[in-house]
Order: sequence, then structure tokens, then C-alpha cells
Amino acid sequence: MDFSEVTLSDEDRAFRDEVREFLASVVTDDVLRRDRETGDNFDEQVHLALGAAGYLERDWRAEADGGFTAVQRRIFELEVSRAHTPWFHWPTTAMVANAVDHFGSEELKAEVLPHVLAGRCRLCLGYTEPEGGSDIATCKTRAVRDGDGWIVNGSKMFTSNAHHAQYVYLVTNTDPNAPKHKSLTMFLLPLDSPGVEIQALRTVDGDRTNITYYSDVRVPDRYRIGPVNGGWGVLREALNAEHGTGERATDGLQKLAVMTEHALLLAEEVDRIAGTVGERLDDGSVAYRLGRSIARLEAALSTPEMFGRVAIAQTMRDITPELMDIGGTRSAVPEGLNAEYLFRLSLPTGIYGGTLDVFRNMIAQHALGLGRPNYTPGR
Ligand SMILES: Cc1cc2nc3c(=O)[nH]c(=O)nc-3n(C[C@H](O)[C@H](O)[C@H](O)COP(=O)(O)OP(=O)(O)OC[C@H]3O[C@@H](n4cnc5c(N)ncnc54)[C@H](O)[C@@H]3O)c2cc1C
Repeated sequence: MDFSEVTLSDEDRAFRDEVREFLASVVTDDVLRRDRETGDNFDEQVHLALGAAGYLERDWRAEADGGFTAVQRRIFELEVSRAHTPWFHWPTTAMVANAVDHFGSEELKAEVLPHVLAGRCRLCLGYTEPEGGSDIATCKTRAVRDGDGWIVNGSKMFTSNAHHAQYVYLVTNTDPNAPKHKSLTMFLLPLDSPGVEIQALRTVDGDRTNITYYSDVRVPDRYRIGPVNGGWGVLREALNAEHGTGERATDGLQKLAVMTEHALLLAEEVDRIAGTVGERLDDGSVAYRLGRSIARLEAALSTPEMFGRVAIAQTMRDITPELMDIGGTRSAVPEGLNAEYLFRLSLPTGIYGGTLDVFRNMIAQHALGLGRPNYTPGR
């Protein structure tokens, strides 16, 4: 791994200052307070401002196509995290916009992409179902041909941000008799279609997600993304991006792993607690536990790709109880983004975008070459 420092050019420094100033003007205390209350991880005014300033478009496009340079992208990601910007609706939207760009019809691209880049249109993920999400291909939500369109029936769990999105990127089953990886078809379904119902769901960390229901929803064929029964191939690309297992650039500037934003929040809390221990460092157990927490955090912050995804969530789970202990009673009171909150956040962090168990299996199988796990009882 390359640990060398990047020397910022004058233009890069000017860009960093510009982004920092912009975020300070839009991510106000009021926005942050509202975001914690709603658990939305989204603020429409902030999102529209980012769109109007051209940041969403430059983040989405490749450098050769008018997007950020690699250094600018890194600066932008770090500044967005440091400002605690309500943000997580954008990576999802950007990922689905990529799928629309690669697999959608020209008509659909024209309908959706300009509004996405301006911030007016957001896209959410409809993969997980009530009977299980790790194996997406077991999808039971049905889409049946009806003239020049389709009729969709089913339900999806954890359709995060659906209540702020205009479309859901929906996995459907279009051939229940086919092998499961040959039975899927993807749609970009407009969420204002008659028959769509969005029901709020709160998670343990106070975030808001949703259950979405689809009852006889009619969707024209132009909203199909990719071939009929060829949805698995379309989906794989988005899943690789979500898992952080896609191809990586070799310049060392790429975000190290998905969810490093959470690790940066943890680093802030570790620093805060370390700043309060004072003389208690003379107590060997405080020094040992704080030192171990810092070492674990540094390791997580330096671990790339899917390994980093596991290291971040596991480290959050392991060290936040230590931090609450060291910080004393106040650290256990829900107050801002403190250790207590980060402990609760660590639980879904190890679930969404694939559970830690599933990631550990992927590492065992694909990185260590240990073969497929065998779940036969008694083995
Ligand atoms: C806050 C939050 C937001 C989310 N947002 C979205 C979203 O926007 N869109 C969306 O589609 N989904 C979303 N999800 C769903 C998420 O992707 C799934 O929860 C996740 O993939 C796990 O699926 P599941 O909950 O159905 O658990 P299951 O797949 O039923 O798993 C249950 C348990 O079995 C284990 N397990 C399952 N399969 C294996 C295996 N092969 N090997 C070892 N262990 C296994 C799991 O680790 C878990 O402990 C979100 C989830 C949360 C908590």
C-alpha cells in the first residue's frame, strides 16, 4: 500500500477551500439537527444546492467527461464527510444513474439523468425483500407482461430514502420457473405510480428507512433497465460498486473502502475522548484500552476494499463500548454523534450493503481461495 502524502497544488488548495466554504454555508447547525431528528441522511435544500453548484455532476462524471480530477474527488469526499453532510442518498442515486446510463434506453436517460445531476431527482434501491436480502436472486416481487408494459406486485424491505426519491431501482422476478439468476428483470419504477405505498421504518440508530409495497403497479416497458430475465448481469455492476469490489484505480487516491465516512466519525469521537481523559491516563487500564482503541481505528482506516468494509464495521462495534466506558456516564447519553450513537450505528453498518458474515465469506472465497462455505448441518 502507498502511504505517501499528496502535495496539493495551488489549484487543489483553492478547490478545497471553495468546497469547505460552500459546505459550511449550506450544512448549517439547523440542517444537522433536523437530520438527526428525521434520520433521513438527506436534506433536499443541501442536495439541490450541491446540484446547482455543479458538484453532483462533477462527482458523477469521469474526469475525461468533465468530472473531478482524482485529487479533487478525494478532497470532495473528505470535506463532505468532515462537514457531516447529510449525504447517503447521493451515492445510491449515483450508482443507479450509472446503471441507467449503461443499460437504459436513450429516452429514459433523457428523462432521468439531467434531473439527477441537478439534484431534483433521486433514486433508491429496491433489492431486499421481507423473506431475505443477502441472496437477492431469490426475489419474489413479480413483474408480468401486460401489452406494452408490465404489472408489478410485491414488497421490498429497507427501501432507504424512498420517501425522498422519484424512482426505485427495482429487482423483479419475470420468470419464476427459470433458474434464479435467469429470472430477474430490473426496472426504474416511478414512485408516484398508482399502487406504490411507502411505509416508514426506524432503525436502532434512529435512521429512517422504509418498507415499500407494490400492488398492481403498471410500469411502461421504457422503464426496463437491460434485457428481460437478464437482470442479474445488470445488477452485478451496481452490487460490485456497493460492495467496493469493483476495479480500483492505481493512483492511491481512491476512497479506501465503502463506509469510511463512519470511520471518520469514529476518529472524531476517539480524539474527543482522548482529549478528556487527562490524568486518568495514569490508570493503566484507561491507557491500555484507549491505546488499543486507537490502534484498532488506525488499522481500520488503513484497510482497503472489502477487507476495510469489514474492519470498519467490526472496529466500530468493538471499540465504542470501550469509549463509552472510558468517557464515563456522559458518553452513554444520546448526545450528538458520540460513542453511544456510534455504537448504535455500528449495528446497521454491519448489515446494509451486505452483512459482515456475507463479506467474510466473500473474502474467504474470492480473496483467500477457500472455496464455497458448506452449511450442511453437523459439518
Ligand atoms: C439501515 C438499513 C438500510 C438498508 N437500505 C437498503 C436499501 O436501500 N435497499 C435495499 O434493497 N436493501 C437495504 N437494506 C437491506 C440490507 O442490504 C440487508 O438487510 C442485508 O443485505 C441483509 O439481508 P437481510 O436483512 O434480509 O438478512 P438475511 O439475508 O435474511 O440474513 C439473516 C442472517 O443470516 C446471515 N446470512 C445470510 N446469508 C448468509 C450466508 N450466505 N453466509 C453466512 N451468513 C449468512 C446474515 O449475515 C444475517 O446474520 C438496508 C438494511 C438496513 C439495516
